[in-house]
Amino acid sequence: MNSRPGRLGVGIVGAGRVGAVLASALRATGHAVVGASGASEETRERIEVLLPNVPVLDVRDVVERSELVLLTVPDDVLGDLVAGLARLGAFQPGQLVVHTAGRYGVDVLAPARARGAIPLAIHPAMTFTGTSVDLSRMDGLPFAVTADPPVLPIAQALVVELGGEPIVLPEEARPLYHAALAHGANHLVTLTSQAMRVLTAAGVSDAGTLLTPLLSAALDGALRGGEVTLTGPVARGDSGTVAEHLTALAGIVAADPALVDVPETYVALARATVQRALAGRRISEPAATRLLDVLDPVTDPATDHEVESGGPEVVRTVAQLRQRRESWNEPVAVVMTMGALHEGHLELVRVARTLAPRVIVTIFVNPLQFGAGEDLAAYPRTLDADVEALGREGVDLVFAPPESEMYPDGAPQVTMTAGHMGEVLEGADRPGHFDGMLTVVAKLLHLTRADIAMFGQKDAQQLALVRRMVSDQNIPVRIEAVPIVREPDGLAMSSRNAYLDEAERTAALVLSQAVAAGAQAAADGGTVDDVLAAAQRILDERDRDLVRPSYLELVDEHTMTAWGERHPGGRSPSRALLVVAARVGATRLIDNAVVSWPLQEEAR
Ligand code: AMP
Repeated sequence: MNSRPGRLGVGIVGAGRVGAVLASALRATGHAVVGASGASEETRERIEVLLPNVPVLDVRDVVERSELVLLTVPDDVLGDLVAGLARLGAFQPGQLVVHTAGRYGVDVLAPARARGAIPLAIHPAMTFTGTSVDLSRMDGLPFAVTADPPVLPIAQALVVELGGEPIVLPEEARPLYHAALAHGANHLVTLTSQAMRVLTAAGVSDAGTLLTPLLSAALDGALRGGEVTLTGPVARGDSGTVAEHLTALAGIVAADPALVDVPETYVALARATVQRALAGRRISEPAATRLLDVLDPVTDPATDHEVESGGPEVVRTVAQLRQRRESWNEPVAVVMTMGALHEGHLELVRVARTLAPRVIVTIFVNPLQFGAGEDLAAYPRTLDADVEALGREGVDLVFAPPESEMYPDGAPQVTMTAGHMGEVLEGADRPGHFDGMLTVVAKLLHLTRADIAMFGQKDAQQLALVRRMVSDQNIPVRIEAVPIVREPDGLAMSSRNAYLDEAERTAALVLSQAVAAGAQAAADGGTVDDVLAAAQRILDERDRDLVRPSYLELVDEHTMTAWGERHPGGRSPSRALLVVAARVGATRLIDNAVVSWPLQEEAR
């Protein structure tokens, strides 16, 4: 024990970096270090350097010999250690038992307290090197201090004795305190090293030198002024720049997969920064929404697919799309979809692949083409599954933009107008639908600069309107139509089929059966009237509780004008389109069939 009065005999259990330094500081103020435990070579060396002549003892001996026990073991072994020592009867009444684990208060020392010891928790807000350098850092160093109220002054005095500044924390605040320190200090190291690795990837030879003034100023500013000092693209609401960053970061990950942690960290921190900038009223809500859209984690599957499974690359921003598109010189086909992909969509993709060496699929639920009360919000969105399916089809690029990328200023002011052809049939039931559809198709044609654009015959009026727009507006693209893909029982595939319950699914078959019956009537030599009557007969057999027809018409497939009762001159056309629409339950479904008359009919 200690020969000098008023001084304590100090024992250290686990003379790691913190323990050895604290003990050394206590020794410097006149206390005696009576023993230290520590099995590793490194610990023994540290004891020799920082605590010369202190005997290395086993744990129990250290505890039994000391008036002040410093438990400086890793946080996760502390509880078991204390319980074990208590079972051995190592603690004594009045003994000061001090631990330095950040996340615990004194409850973890309950077994020692039960033996009459005085439990204290101190935690220096500092990382230690385990060398004498740390001793000079101790001056004024904040220490979190937790203790039972009557003995709190002892813990505070101990910290003052070490040269530190006690900051009292209640038991329950310790985990949060520790989380804050780890988040701030440890993650700052991760963040800084990421910035250095990216700079190195960019060819900067001394990233540390380059970053030092900027990061030092940022840290200094943040510590003094909080978020007021925030600068950069997020604080300016500059989503375009953020998008460029993401593209660039995705690019370096492609070149060096070891950097894969960087983009996700960037996204996470940028999202948090957006929230803080919004809370501090530094950016507006629309600006925040635009930023968050760019940062939407749906980009992650994109990176994953690209890096891990070799699936298609998924891009979310116009800038990323442009960049990819510009890297291709060969012809490009585009398949525009609203997602929730099924075999019908995939057939378009397959045909596209036979027509062009590069295939882009766009997935965008275009709000402009949904009317009030339609299913915009409920429309099925299954991006992960879609991307996976497109990967199997060998698609090169998926463009899945958020709304804010397509319409950064809200609804566009200058739009396409479908004209009369957009006001009949579907257009009569869905005012504005085709204007919205054409507006987004035009945008996507411009963005993808596709040579070929694929459209399904299923949406025949859409197909006719797109052809008309391309012709009227001289858009340099070839439109290719793909026949309707059907379920084995004939139902035309549609993303909206997912809405149907079993009874509706069965009832919905009248649509395909009606147009098939009409087509058969023409093949059998029937007139226009016969065709319509054959189709109507099937519709009349519908389940009237579930199916509400909207229209059944025979139209010109290019103009969507009805053939009327008789073709002028009393002849049947050689070819027309039989179109039908109905609400099945709450779900609006459409179908059609090409109706062609045998040649002799024309000659008749
Ligand atoms: P959507 O996702 O419904 O906008 O459809 C995207 C494209 O796929 C459009 O050109 C549709 O005409 C086409 N499409 C949808 N369903 C089918 C189908 N059953 N058969 C052929 N093409 C389809």
